[in-house]
Amino acid sequence: MALREEQILRYSRQILLRDVGGRGQEALLEGGARLEGSGPAGLTAAAYLAGGGTPVVGSESRLAPAAVGFLASAEDVGRPASEVLARVLPDVNPDAAAPHAGGRIAELPAAWNGEAPWVALGGDGTRGAVVFRGRQGCVWCFGETVRTLQAPPMGVLGVALGALGALVFQRLQLGMGPELGGRWLAAPGQVLELELHRCAKCREAK
Ligand SMILES: [Zn+2]
Repeated sequence: MALREEQILRYSRQILLRDVGGRGQEALLEGGARLEGSGPAGLTAAAYLAGGGTPVVGSESRLAPAAVGFLASAEDVGRPASEVLARVLPDVNPDAAAPHAGGRIAELPAAWNGEAPWVALGGDGTRGAVVFRGRQGCVWCFGETVRTLQAPPMGVLGVALGALGALVFQRLQLGMGPELGGRWLAAPGQVLELELHRCAKCREAK
């Protein structure tokens, strides 16, 4: 797929970044994300992904009052995320309006299936957490790690976590490593390494 002139203008900032480039931007537009979740972290991730060119399709989970702000208004509370995103994302980016099959980005707790990338948005009650897996990353290590986490934070930290999750998802779409990992978000902009829980097979292989 070749970029149209208006797309080159829309994504010029990303294309100029060495890590994305024209090829990378085409990969983002051809990819897609299924979003599970309807809180500030999930909706912010959807907005950033759509803004960057990745089509996003929402789930049936209904918007909570805490989701109001970034993309959703007070009237959207109680509506399914899929319906709200289908309405507002074309305004963020018309290219991201037609959802493709693709990876998964979800607020924990969530079920995991389908193709990579997988990005989990969670927390430990104080901090936010992002756990991610590319195509080569171990499914079981990912699962054991996300099982230890709770739902993502609300408020400003949730918004920052969603932005970080979208960035991680885009990097995996672009084939930029690592293929498996996690990060704590202690405060907006304060990112720390999250140690993975290894599955029995990977522990043996060490
Ligand atoms: Zn493993």
